[in-house]
Amino acid sequence: MEVLVTGGAGFIGSHMVKMLATRGYSVVTLDDLSAGFRDAVLAGEFVHGSLHDIAGLDALFSAHTFDAVIHFAGSIVVSESVRDPSKYYRNNLVATLNLLDAMRKHGVGKLIFSSTAAIFGMPQYVPIDEGHPKAPINPYGMSKWMIENVLLDYERAYGFHSVALRYFNAAGAAPDGELGERHNPETHLIPLAIRAANGALPALTVFGSDYDTPDGTCIRDYIHIVDICEAHLLALDHLARGGGSRAYNLGNGEGYSVRQVIEIVERVSGNKVPVHYGDRREGDPPRLVADSSRIRQDWGWIPRYSELEMIVAHAWRWENANAVPA
Ligand code: UDP
Repeated sequence: MEVLVTGGAGFIGSHMVKMLATRGYSVVTLDDLSAGFRDAVLAGEFVHGSLHDIAGLDALFSAHTFDAVIHFAGSIVVSESVRDPSKYYRNNLVATLNLLDAMRKHGVGKLIFSSTAAIFGMPQYVPIDEGHPKAPINPYGMSKWMIENVLLDYERAYGFHSVALRYFNAAGAAPDGELGERHNPETHLIPLAIRAANGALPALTVFGSDYDTPDGTCIRDYIHIVDICEAHLLALDHLARGGGSRAYNLGNGEGYSVRQVIEIVERVSGNKVPVHYGDRREGDPPRLVADSSRIRQDWGWIPRYSELEMIVAHAWRWENANAVPA
């Protein structure tokens, strides 16, 4: 099977490319390197290109016979999406339409799409199941929710089959230490807490300690990058069997507060995490925890690295070995 991975030089994409190659898939990565890293693409063919380049897409699809596309490429920083919605509707919605239309033109009808817990907005209940109302509160979440709807229309009209996977908090690193989380600038809690623990950062700023949670800090559901990628392989199998469109929430189903994450980083590292308590970050819901029972039941997905200690331990090893500047 030949698979196109858009955004294959990014955090989740690079792990996916590696896993696909290990499992015997033929892989092509398409990435514009605006946020990804060429040296993170460890296997397959690499194409430096953009989803905004319609002629380039046409040439790519003419040169290959893709069985499916895994679409990670997109912009992901919530606060930036509020400041610059145009970038998010272009890079997420418009770019995806370009991709879908190239797929249609070339008879490729199977897509796995990176969606997000941000489509739900402020949770009305937790854990959040697939039926929870969708009310995104920022352009990032809205752009992803729009695409989920586009995909359903494409199924009805063109027989296009897709699986939308709504990630909660992707974290960790490859267990063999080969790949890890790389964002520039880094905004995510676990790598920043690790950098505060190993001295690469003077302190971690905790965004708000007056939330309505047991210790006043926000609760999130952290899921290991490898478990996320395994879910994509199950989605590929489903689509290859001719299965119809689906959407699944993807998390461990267990919430950890920012304070608890800090404690685990301190335990794993043996170092203190210097902390500064700051204001709330705009648009942060107090509690986001996934109910992933549907994907467990339908496809037997079981997270292998559900322990947050293990997720942090893999990230800790990666950060120390690679000393990514803050
Ligand atoms: N967070 C924090 N300090 C940081 C980065 C994140 O306190 O420097 C908090 C953030 O407010 C949220 C949680 O950690 O409650 C996870 O944030 P992250 O950016 O990792 O992922 P998100 O939940 O925004 O997707």
